[in-house]
Amino acid sequence: MAETLPPADDLGPPRETPLFGRLAIIGLGLIGSSVARAARRLNLAGEVVAIDADADVRARVSGLGFADRVEGDAAIGVAGADLIVLCVPVGACGPVAQAMAAGLKAGAIVSDVGSVKGAVVRDVAPHLPEGVHFVPAHPVAGTENSGPEAGFASLFLGRWCILTPPEGADEAAVARVQDFWEGMGSIVEIMTPQHHDIVLAITSHVPHLIAYNIVGTAADLEAVTRSEVIKFSAGGFRDFTRIAASDPTMWRDVFLNNREAVLEVLGRFNEDLAALARAIRWGDGTMLHEFFARSRTIRRGIVQIGQSVPYTDPPGGKTS
Ligand code: NAP
Repeated sequence: MAETLPPADDLGPPRETPLFGRLAIIGLGLIGSSVARAARRLNLAGEVVAIDADADVRARVSGLGFADRVEGDAAIGVAGADLIVLCVPVGACGPVAQAMAAGLKAGAIVSDVGSVKGAVVRDVAPHLPEGVHFVPAHPVAGTENSGPEAGFASLFLGRWCILTPPEGADEAAVARVQDFWEGMGSIVEIMTPQHHDIVLAITSHVPHLIAYNIVGTAADLEAVTRSEVIKFSAGGFRDFTRIAASDPTMWRDVFLNNREAVLEVLGRFNEDLAALARAIRWGDGTMLHEFFARSRTIRRGIVQIGQSVPYTDPPGGKTS
C-alpha cells in the first residue's frame, strides 16, 4: 500500500519574510523546543523568545541556540510578542496565562499546544485581556521523549494540527495561526474543543491508558519474570512500552482534564473487551475473526493517508 508521508527532514526553504515579528514560547520541552526550532529554521518569526521558569532549563536552551532570547518571567518574556504559544502541561496553562497576562500587548495572538482543548479554553480565556486573540491548537505529533534536547524542527511535518477557535474568534487571527502551523508542514483541521476531546480520547488518550495499564500488569505478573517480559517483548508488548514511556506529568494532566470523554470511551472499550473475552471463553471463532478483520481495514486506512509512521527517534537526526 502506498505510503504518502513526506520525507521527515524535507522541510523546504525558509520564508522570505517572517509571518510574525516576535514569537514567544512558554515551556521549552519536546513540543516547545520543536516549535522554536521549526520557526527558526523556516523563518516563521523575526525573533524567538524562549520562556521557562527553571534556571537549569534556561541554561540548556541558551546552549542549544534555537532562541534569540531566553527569559524566566512570563510577563516580561511575552512583552511585545505577536504570537505567544503555551507549551506547558495542560494543567499549567491557566496559571501560566495568569502570570503572563500583564505583559500581553493589544492585538497579540495567544495559542497553545495542549492535548486537551475544553479545559485549556476554560482555564486560559478568563485571564486574557480585551483585544488579545485566543486560538487554541493541538499538534497531533510527538514522541515519548521530553525536554529541550528532545525537540526537532520536522516534528510537525505531515502531521495534523487541530485548531479549536472559540465562537466568534477573530478570523484573521485564526488564519494566521493556521498559516503558522502549515508553515511548519502540518495539515490543519478546525473543530470545536468538545469534539476534539472526544476524538482524541479514542485516538490517543485511551490508547495511552491501555499502554500504561498493560505495562503495569506485566510488571506485576508473578508467573512471568521481568527478564522474560524484556526478552520476548517483540510479541507486541514492545510498542506498548514505547507509548508507556511518555511523560507522566503530561499524561496525568490529560486524564485529569479530559475526564468525561475518557470515561465515556473507556466504558465502550470495557464492553467490547468483555464481548471479546466471552468469544474466547465460548470458542466463538467467527466473532473473533470478524472483529480482527474489521480492525485490519482501519489500519489500512491509516497507512493510506500517510499517518502510520511513529516518530521514535528524530528522523534524519536533530534539526535545530
Ligand atoms: P515536556 O517535554 O515535558 O515539556 C513541558 C514543558 O512545560 C517544560 O518546559 C516544563 O518546564 C514546562 N512546565 C511543566 N510544568 C510547568 C508549570 N507548572 N509551569 C510552567 N511550566 C511548566 O512536555 P511536552 O511533550 O513538550 O508537552 C507540552 C505540551 O504539549 C502539553 O500540554 C502536552 O499535552 C502537549 N502535547 C504533547 C505531545 C507529546 O507527544 N509529547 C503531543 C502534542 C501535544 P521545566 O522543564 O522547567 O519543568
